[in-house]
Amino acid sequence: MIIGLTGGIGSGKSLALSYFQRLKIDSISADSTVKKVIDEDECAKNELIKLVGKEIIDPNEAVDRKILREKIFNDDILKTKVENIIHPIVQKKIMSFVGSSSSAYVVIEVPLIYETNSTKNYDRILVIDCSEHLQFERAMSRDKSTKVEINNIIKSQCARSERLSIASDVIRNTGTEDELKKKIYELHSFYISIVNGR
Ligand code: ADP
Repeated sequence: MIIGLTGGIGSGKSLALSYFQRLKIDSISADSTVKKVIDEDECAKNELIKLVGKEIIDPNEAVDRKILREKIFNDDILKTKVENIIHPIVQKKIMSFVGSSSSAYVVIEVPLIYETNSTKNYDRILVIDCSEHLQFERAMSRDKSTKVEINNIIKSQCARSERLSIASDVIRNTGTEDELKKKIYELHSFYISIVNGR
């Protein structure tokens, strides 16, 4: 069983994923996989240089993700071309992770499931939900980004109601970290019961 774990920025997806990991459930983050591909895949790096230019390479010969982000900002055609280089490799890595998993179910953290119309890739969608105000507060205390940057990300993502419309399961992350952990552990028991056909 493949669980797609989603939610807006700062909703608590990564923290939720870490609790599944503690339960020894094979879990993978799409964003971290994208970072890994950009950092480590030489073929992808060379393709990106060919497409976007040498300016994206930092003094350590690595791709500077900030410059890459700036280059594709407001250039949808270039953004699509960059995604066409990175996404198939990411998809392959995630599929191979799922294929080699031996846990009762697998959790894939993907920020944009509603936005990319990709619900069909998962058996169940778990939405981590909280108010936009809480999302903003949490993202501000975690990231170095400005208020405007965080607000722009929240605005660029789908509305809570849209995300909730694709949910099989919803966890409201409005309490403490311990409360979130407890809810994940309860959901884990539920998922195990589904897998066991009970
Ligand atoms: P996302 O991956 O959805 O962007 P994170 O899991 O990184 O969000 O959470 C954003 C920040 O808020 C992190 O610093 C995280 O530790 C913190 N956080 C998440 N949920 C809670 C909670 N219930 N109580 C306190 N802090 C939380």
